[in-house]
Amino acid sequence: MNATDVSLAGKVGLVTGAASGLGKEIALTFARAGASVAIADLNGDGAEAVASQIRAAGGKAIGVTMDVTDEDAVNSATDRVAGEFGSIDILVSNAGIQIVNPIVEFSYTDWRKMQAIHVDGAFLTTRAALRHMYRGDRGGVVIYMGSVHSHLASPLKSAYVTAKHALLGLSRTLAKEGAAHNVRSHVVCPGFVRTPLVEKQIPEQAKELGISEADVVKNVMLGGTVDGVFTTVDDIAQTTLFLAAFPTAALTGQSFVVSHGWFMQ
Ligand code: NAD
Repeated sequence: MNATDVSLAGKVGLVTGAASGLGKEIALTFARAGASVAIADLNGDGAEAVASQIRAAGGKAIGVTMDVTDEDAVNSATDRVAGEFGSIDILVSNAGIQIVNPIVEFSYTDWRKMQAIHVDGAFLTTRAALRHMYRGDRGGVVIYMGSVHSHLASPLKSAYVTAKHALLGLSRTLAKEGAAHNVRSHVVCPGFVRTPLVEKQIPEQAKELGISEADVVKNVMLGGTVDGVFTTVDDIAQTTLFLAAFPTAALTGQSFVVSHGWFMQ
């Protein structure tokens, strides 16, 4: 599938964590499909750089500095995007980090930071976007960036696995509440994708598990796949585009695992 096959013309997308990795590719893909895109990130300069790249290619985009854990910042940045582009039709709640440690050594500060970014951030951005999507029941789509770890567990990742499982609950609840307002919701669940978030984990996991970096990639990251191949940012962007453009609630409240067969549901 290619971005030009699916149109988001006239739609407004807000993508969090879009200065890098998956969020950036989703923002670029939405823009190529004709959407106006807000690139929201803690890294405001990075967000603006992605927005300028889209504008230089003839698209419509703005960069927005947003810490998804800051209630006031989320509300004001979301309202600013809706003011600039007219409303919000698609929210991709994607911002995230990874902290790996055995449970027994996990600091409470790190635990809370993980829940704050992944779970509180998903809630706050959803609530802020719904205030626009519910107006006149114009509707929209909320897509959460889950993970294969929304469905299964791995050692050292207690906070991440807990947070990614929680997104299934939020998304399914939204699918039920949002239906009356024409809002749909989904969780996209990638396997390992070589973004900065994953590059950082390779040496960390090698150290924690006492194995080589090559073995982390081959056995820990790709060992469960059917073909030993990484999922790509484009695989995830195309899946997200399809779900954003799908026109009815025939698809809502679902989880889409994109992982080379690592997890099958
Ligand atoms: P990345 O590190 O490349 O990008 C994450 C972005 O989120 C960065 O630009 C960062 O500045 C931003 N961010 C971090 N904290 C933020 C905050 N408080 N407010 C706003 N922005 C913030 O990582 P990525 O791999 O693209 O990950 C994106 C999402 O995909 C995450 O939710 C991650 O858990 C999920 N995911 C990634 C993989 C993978 O293999 N890369 C697999 C499954 C799920």
